[in-house]
Amino acid sequence: MANSSEVVERALEQGEGIFRLFPNWVPRSFCIPGKRIKLHPDDYYAFGAHRGGIDERWFASTTKADNGPETLPDEGLSYIYFKDGRKEEKVLLKEAIDIMGNDILGTDVMKKFGGWLMFSKFFDNMEPLPHHLHHDDETAAHVGAMGKPESYFFPAQLNNHGGWFPYTFFGLNPGTTKDEVRKCLEDWNKGDNGILYLSRAYKLKPGTGWDVPPGILHAPGSLLTYEPQRCSDVFAMFQSLVWDVPTPWELLVKNVPEEYKNDLDFIISLINWDLNVDPDFYHNRFAEPKPVKPVEEMRTEGYEEFWISYKSSDFSAKELRVFPGSTVTIKDKEAYGLITIEGHGQFGSLSIDAPSLIRFGEMTSDELFVTQKAAREGITITNPSENTMLVMLKHFGPEL
Ligand SMILES: [Zn+2]
Repeated sequence: MANSSEVVERALEQGEGIFRLFPNWVPRSFCIPGKRIKLHPDDYYAFGAHRGGIDERWFASTTKADNGPETLPDEGLSYIYFKDGRKEEKVLLKEAIDIMGNDILGTDVMKKFGGWLMFSKFFDNMEPLPHHLHHDDETAAHVGAMGKPESYFFPAQLNNHGGWFPYTFFGLNPGTTKDEVRKCLEDWNKGDNGILYLSRAYKLKPGTGWDVPPGILHAPGSLLTYEPQRCSDVFAMFQSLVWDVPTPWELLVKNVPEEYKNDLDFIISLINWDLNVDPDFYHNRFAEPKPVKPVEEMRTEGYEEFWISYKSSDFSAKELRVFPGSTVTIKDKEAYGLITIEGHGQFGSLSIDAPSLIRFGEMTSDELFVTQKAAREGITITNPSENTMLVMLKHFGPEL
């Protein structure tokens, strides 16, 4: 068994600055899998039925899942996968960045940020999630954590059905008072605490997305969602009953200091009031894809690229579509992770394809990580298909 730095060096060399990542599945005991995540139908309970079904796949993750006492030591963490002849090696992306961050993310990025501060995931639920928020830096600091912004994009390729409720409640109705929210917290043990009466739902549209800064209440709907986010796992659930399943008070105050766990004023102070009651919520938070340069110019070169997450300063994401029969060279400023969602082709020195069925524990060719150097030099991508588009989603950390 080679040591980690040797493996990473050889993987870097073999892939010319591009790594493969091993599929990274995460179960959730409180969710119902939407079964659009390409896992074999027999494999949804591969962690054991008591852990819940698999409804998430995490990408380019150096963040461990916070999934209760039975969380595995490496749950949620992405592995670099390297194959040399018949020998297979795996190294945690986190470990690789710890030992060779300068070569992977770049010296300027390591100096400013000290590591890789985002990850992305697919979440794939049949039912909507409880109305909840993620703390900002200030309120997360009380429990020694960082705030958590996130954003959503709904790939059409993975949304052949919308699940049971493809609508997301966001924020609070303009004019909502803190007393009304306080009443919901007081009513926690009476069944439905009615928090959704204070909010409004938006119909989710495949091929578009939303920006969700910290402190905004949201009850994610049931589309399969690509979710770039900052690497933090703080949350507070404000809805006491979801699809007739009670939410324990503990999930409201999980990331609240001990002395404030029953302090309703403190709990309400987690809410970013202005952002929640913003009368222009839709215009400020909805994210229509934006071309990275004039569309006609890109089309004549054989591709289209869009910003799909662009309202946060902590991460961003793009969708790249290479047309059938085209070869293009694409440059980016920084290192990024990538997931292929349609078609097949050549990405630099590595082949990629979007599988239609994945067995739990098996390797795929759909996920990569591109070093800063390779991204800046440009990657030559070929789509050899006569008819099918080659489509990738690319996730980036904060800008320098
Ligand atoms: Zn959330």
